[in-house]
Amino acid sequence: MARIVMKFGGTSVGDVDRIKNVAQRVKREVDAGNEVAVVVSAMSGTTNQLVGWTSAISRLHDAREYDVVVASGEQVTVGLLALALQDIGINARSWLGWQIPFRTDGIHGKARIDRIETQEMERRFAQGQVAVVAGFQGIGPDARITTLGRGGSDTSAVALAAALKADRCDIYTDVDGVYTTDPRIVSKARKIERITYEEMLELASQGAKVLQTRSVAMAMQHGVRVQVLSSFVDVPGTLVVDEDEIVEQQVVTGIAYSPDEAKITLVGVPDRPGVAGAIFGSLADAAVNVDMIVQNVSQDGQTTDLTFTVGKADLDRASHVLDKLRNDLAYAELVADSNVCKVSVVGVGMRSQPGIAKTMFQTLAEKSINIQVISTSEIKVSVLIGADYTELAVRALHTAFGLDADADS
Ligand code: ASP
Ligand code: MG
Repeated sequence: MARIVMKFGGTSVGDVDRIKNVAQRVKREVDAGNEVAVVVSAMSGTTNQLVGWTSAISRLHDAREYDVVVASGEQVTVGLLALALQDIGINARSWLGWQIPFRTDGIHGKARIDRIETQEMERRFAQGQVAVVAGFQGIGPDARITTLGRGGSDTSAVALAAALKADRCDIYTDVDGVYTTDPRIVSKARKIERITYEEMLELASQGAKVLQTRSVAMAMQHGVRVQVLSSFVDVPGTLVVDEDEIVEQQVVTGIAYSPDEAKITLVGVPDRPGVAGAIFGSLADAAVNVDMIVQNVSQDGQTTDLTFTVGKADLDRASHVLDKLRNDLAYAELVADSNVCKVSVVGVGMRSQPGIAKTMFQTLAEKSINIQVISTSEIKVSVLIGADYTELAVRALHTAFGLDADADS
């Protein structure tokens, strides 16, 4: 007997028939003698609609009421799934975040989980009851409803698996695993059997959309065994595991791309101590996340150019903040470009194998793709390129790093 958390995303519970299909999958695990908690998202499209309604009513909405509205999608799906399970003879009940309770901090709209009280749920496991849990939501210190940020039900599932000391956390979705890159743009993308937490974390934060980044960080921290698999076809998925569980390690495991970036260049920034601190301090105060940064050495000792990237959604806010700084800093010009894409190659094998950056840059050069900004970590090399070259770059790199599926396999 094992204890497992199963998580189903929006497309997996997108209509009544799909919810019945989920119930059958849950039944299989119950029939195998397992203790089961099921975490569900709202039906696909629902949360977007709820978010749309809140902004249509009020642009400067009260974040506490926003959470009340957007958390409601999951209330529908937990109730429906509990009914579907009861209908096929499974003892099941629904749980909203506040009922468990799923305690979070008070940062409405992107709350962090503090603690999950699972005693009652575990008592009911012992009586054979399945827990159907609303993802994405919790209860804050002031007893008001909170949500965990878009895509947050992955994090709900992993956190619950950690709290329950579950043997597995199976994330069911509309793809059958994690691929070496986006199969929609590279037909030769391959499914990865096992991937390390660190690689998954990099891929998720560099633009691969399979798992919410926070859920991967949490799985890594608590050693939760995560499996990504399809809710529609019965094939093995991808296991996210510790590095020592991977026998044959590729140097590059996957290639991610993120079109959600924008580039800002400040031309003629005075070259003196404190300037970078002032610029990035002001951006941080305005809650703008900065990703890649390059600063040139100044030729004349007077001024330099500073280039960095921010999320596309933050570009206006960032420009506004920097405009205001211009009085103090007296830089010459601000140039913004949102027609860019970040492409990253990721793999823990890079730690021990030199030459990855060289192969990456040469491959792009052969396709006449200009590199605008570079950044690296121990297990990743990222470049910023013109958005129009995204597909070409990803395909060429996928081939260059030997990731293409064999034509005959
Ligand atoms: N329903 C929420 C969203 O769309 C949470 C999730 O799907 O993970 O963001
Ligand atoms: Mg999701």
